[in-house]
Amino acid sequence: MAATSPKTALVVGGGFAGLAAAQVLTEQGLEVVLVEQGRGLGGRMCTRTATVAGTGERLTFDHGCQYLTARSPQWDAALERLRAAGAVAAWETGGRVGTAALDADDGLILGSFSADKSKELLVGCPTNSSVGRALAAAAGPRLTTLTGTRIRGLSWDGKAWRATASRRPVLSLRVTPGQGGGESEAADAAGGGGSPSGSGDEAEGQLDEVLASLESRTFDLAITAMSSVSTAKLLGGGGKGGGKEGGKEGGGVPLAADVAEAAGDVRSNVCWALIVALNRKLDLPFDGALLSRPDPAGRPVPPGYGPIAWLSRDSTKPGRPAVAGGAGETWVVHGGPGWSNEHADEPPEAVALELIEELARLAQTELLPERDVLHAEAHRWNNAYPLNPRPPVPPPPGSAASGLGLAGCYMLRADMALAACGDWAKGPRAGDAYLSGWEAAHALLASV
Ligand SMILES: Cc1cc2nc3c(=O)[nH]c(=O)nc-3n(C[C@H](O)[C@H](O)[C@H](O)COP(=O)(O)OP(=O)(O)OC[C@H]3O[C@@H](n4cnc5c(N)ncnc54)[C@H](O)[C@@H]3O)c2cc1C
Repeated sequence: MAATSPKTALVVGGGFAGLAAAQVLTEQGLEVVLVEQGRGLGGRMCTRTATVAGTGERLTFDHGCQYLTARSPQWDAALERLRAAGAVAAWETGGRVGTAALDADDGLILGSFSADKSKELLVGCPTNSSVGRALAAAAGPRLTTLTGTRIRGLSWDGKAWRATASRRPVLSLRVTPGQGGGESEAADAAGGGGSPSGSGDEAEGQLDEVLASLESRTFDLAITAMSSVSTAKLLGGGGKGGGKEGGKEGGGVPLAADVAEAAGDVRSNVCWALIVALNRKLDLPFDGALLSRPDPAGRPVPPGYGPIAWLSRDSTKPGRPAVAGGAGETWVVHGGPGWSNEHADEPPEAVALELIEELARLAQTELLPERDVLHAEAHRWNNAYPLNPRPPVPPPPGSAASGLGLAGCYMLRADMALAACGDWAKGPRAGDAYLSGWEAAHALLASV
C-alpha cells in the first residue's frame, strides 16, 4: 500500500482498452497522460478518408472494426453514453447484414444469405473514428492525449514511472480534451484529433516541447493498453511476439517478464482490408456478410474462410457521404485469415487488385479498375485479432481487487504499480478490449 494515494498515471495506447482505463482513472481524480503512436484515437476502430482524383469527391471507409455490439454491463453503459452524445448510431440494415455460404470453389451460394437480427449493430457517427474521440472527451479535462507519439521505453525506479518516446512521421497532437479538430483521418490507426496550432517549424517546435515535457515527467501508475505483440515487446525489452514491426521497444531489459511472456503467448493473425469506391452498385443481396464454407457433412467444424471473410457496403452506414452522386457505393472487404496470412508480404497494390477480382467474382460481375473503380487501397492489419486470448484470472480472494467483482481480464504487477490490458486479455471484440481496460484500471487502483 502506497503512503500517499496516486495522483498521476501514464496510459500507453489509445484504443478502447486505453481509453476505458483513462476514464476510470480520471473519474478517481488522477491526472492521466495517454500516449498513442497513431494519428488518432480509437485504435483498430478507425476510418480512412480519400478524395476521388479529378472530381475532389470525399470518401470515407471504416477499414478496421466494423460495428459495436453489447457485451458487458460496463461496455453497454459506455455505448449508451456514446449514443446519447451522438457518437454512435444504429446501422439500420433492414435485415441486410448476416452470414452467407461459399461453395467449394469459393463462389457465393446464391440464396444462402441469412440475416442476423439477434443484435443491434452500432457504428460511429459520422464515421467510426468518432468513437475514440468521444471516449477521450468523456474522460474529461484530467485526460491529456498525445497522439503521433510512440513510447519506446518505460522505467520504474521503485517509486515512479518514466517514459522515453519518439515522434512518428505523421503527427497530430491534442492536449485539450473535447477540442478535437476535423476529420484528419488518413493514417494507420486513423482518427481525428486536432492538429497543433500553427504549422511547419512552429508546430514542430511545439511537438518537441511536448515530447520533452513527457520525458521529464514521472507517473505514479502505468497501464499498457496495446496489442499482445506490442505489449510483449515493450514489457519484455523488445522480446518475443513476432509481428512485422521489429523495433527496439523496451531497451533490451525485461521490465515485467511475466506479463510480456503471457502477452507473447497470445497469437494474432494478419487481416488485409480492401477499401474500394465504385461508380456503380453491386448486385449482392446484403449490405454486410460474413462468408464461410459450411462443412459438407453438416458437422459443427470451425468455419473455413475463402479469400474474403467479410464484406460490407460501407456507404449504407448512417451519415456516410453519397458516392458518385448516389449512383455508386463504397465497400470494405476483409481477407480471410488464411488468405491474409499467405499474402502477408505482398505489396498492397497487388493485394487490392486481387481482392477487387474476388469481390467481382462473388458479385458475378466484372470490375475494371479504370472503368468502375473510383478509389481503391489495401491496408494490412498486422495484429488484427487475438487468436487465443488469455483466459481471465480473477484476483485472489482477500485482495482489494477481488471485492470489486472483477473477472480478471488484465494483468497486474502491484509491486510496480503496473497493469496491462487489451483485447488479448479478454477476447477479440471491441467490447472485450473496453472491459479489459476498465478492469485493469480498477484493479490497479485497488492495489496501490
Ligand atoms: C479488421 C478488423 C475488424 C474488426 N471488426 C470488429 C467488429 O466488427 N466488432 C468488434 O467488436 N471488434 C472488431 N475488431 C476487433 C476490435 O477492433 C479490437 O478488439 C479492439 O479495437 C482492440 O482494442 P485495444 O484497445 O485492445 O487495441 P487497439 O485498438 O489495437 O489499441 C492499441 C493502441 O496502442 C497503440 N500502440 C501500440 N504500441 C504503442 C506504443 N509503443 N506507443 C504508443 N501507442 C502504441 C496502437 O497504435 C493502438 O492504437 C476488428 C478488428 C480488426 C483489425
